[in-house]
Amino acid sequence: MKQRKIGIIGGGASGMAAAITAARQGALVTILEGNDRIGKKLLATGNGRCNLGNLELSADCYYGEDVVFVMDRLTQFNTQDTISFFQGLGLMIKNKGGYLYPACEQASAVLDVLRMEIKELGIEVKLQCRVCRIYRKEDLIVVSDGKIEYAFDRVILACGGKAAKNTGSDGSGYELAKQLGHSLIPTVPALVQLRCKEDYFKSIAGVRADACITLEREGREPVRERGELQLTDYGISGIPVFQLSRIVGRQLMQQKEVTIHINFLPDYDEEGLKQLYAVRNALEGDKTMEEFFTGMLHKKIMLLFIRLAGLKAGTPVREAAKDAIWKVFSLCRDFTVTVTASNPYENAQVCAGGVPTGEVTKELESRKASGVYFAGELLDVDGKCGGYNLQWAWCSGYLAGMAAAK
Ligand SMILES: Cc1cc2nc3c(=O)[nH]c(=O)nc-3n(C[C@H](O)[C@H](O)[C@H](O)COP(=O)(O)OP(=O)(O)OC[C@H]3O[C@@H](n4cnc5c(N)ncnc54)[C@H](O)[C@@H]3O)c2cc1C
Repeated sequence: MKQRKIGIIGGGASGMAAAITAARQGALVTILEGNDRIGKKLLATGNGRCNLGNLELSADCYYGEDVVFVMDRLTQFNTQDTISFFQGLGLMIKNKGGYLYPACEQASAVLDVLRMEIKELGIEVKLQCRVCRIYRKEDLIVVSDGKIEYAFDRVILACGGKAAKNTGSDGSGYELAKQLGHSLIPTVPALVQLRCKEDYFKSIAGVRADACITLEREGREPVRERGELQLTDYGISGIPVFQLSRIVGRQLMQQKEVTIHINFLPDYDEEGLKQLYAVRNALEGDKTMEEFFTGMLHKKIMLLFIRLAGLKAGTPVREAAKDAIWKVFSLCRDFTVTVTASNPYENAQVCAGGVPTGEVTKELESRKASGVYFAGELLDVDGKCGGYNLQWAWCSGYLAGMAAAK
């Protein structure tokens, strides 16, 4: 029987998983990659350590118009399958509280084992080949980089979204999908820092603090995230901010005013705060405002809150109005900032939105162009921080590779 020729557009996480899977099924596989190397983004993941999956895999870790579709796919290739896949390639895996990393904590090792398997399976890799055109010609699917045309029996689009363009995902996959008649769920940057309106951020830049942040949503339950908040000279960053950023991105897109409440004392309720006030009051002595609040939160934050409460750092506590002092305490539990924008796609880890999952079959085949499959972030699927995006890349790559080779 004639060997099936499969072209994979994009040699990122999902493209490499698809290529290996299809080649193991006996297909003749070619990866067409726009960069001068495959897997460039993978090297940057997890701060160079690559958080390649997570033992906790549930629907609230994913976003997109149809999370049920995503979860159904993930039951076909789950975290255990990711572990087996990589262990089968010789990679030792470390479990850090459910977050999975290569044991050597080097993202390059993940890329190396994938590259070795690609070589071992005889998969052809064409580099510096940025595909800009795709169309059907009788039984074949033809792709072109503007210079050379390649014809395949099946094609898997694994071009990523448009986050971190310097790693190769420049959004051209969306254009290819459109050429085939697909629509697009508008994209927004996700897992990204947020820019804020207030002019005092320069004075608190560099501070890191354990905080709970809450995002209000019109007519819906607010969303909360807790973790290490990072304050920058333009706004807020850190894992809890990243987790909320895709929802914020959607709100900003709808021209909504976005406010985030920051609680720097997440272990204190209102009553606890009153007790804290009473205890510190007893220590008042001859202290100035700055001295009185020393040791509660980071000094830069306390100085800002003293100022926002209309007080001066050098004012003796006994001369300060009690309600102004209480205001400082209150700000520690509810500091409200106004978000004006997300940082751009260049700074984002992922891209929310993309090709609607309703436009592909359960096997990730296009409903608009048979023989074309989708994998990875190009689809309208994005996950929280914690290995969920790579888990989707491995899973969708595997499923598309299996189906295309079938
Ligand atoms: C800094 C950073 C850290 C991250 N850390 C983590 C983490 O620790 N854990 C986690 O789960 N996720 C992480 N992510 C997200 C994760 O890397 C992505 O979700 C995942 O790589 C998406 O895989 P993909 O195959 O869909 O796309 P990509 O990995 O982006 O690969 C797409 C590939 O297609 C190529 N390409 C694009 N268009 C064309 C074209 N027209 N022709 C030819 N080639 C093309 C690109 O050059 C690229 O190589 C991180 C992302 C970033 C930016």
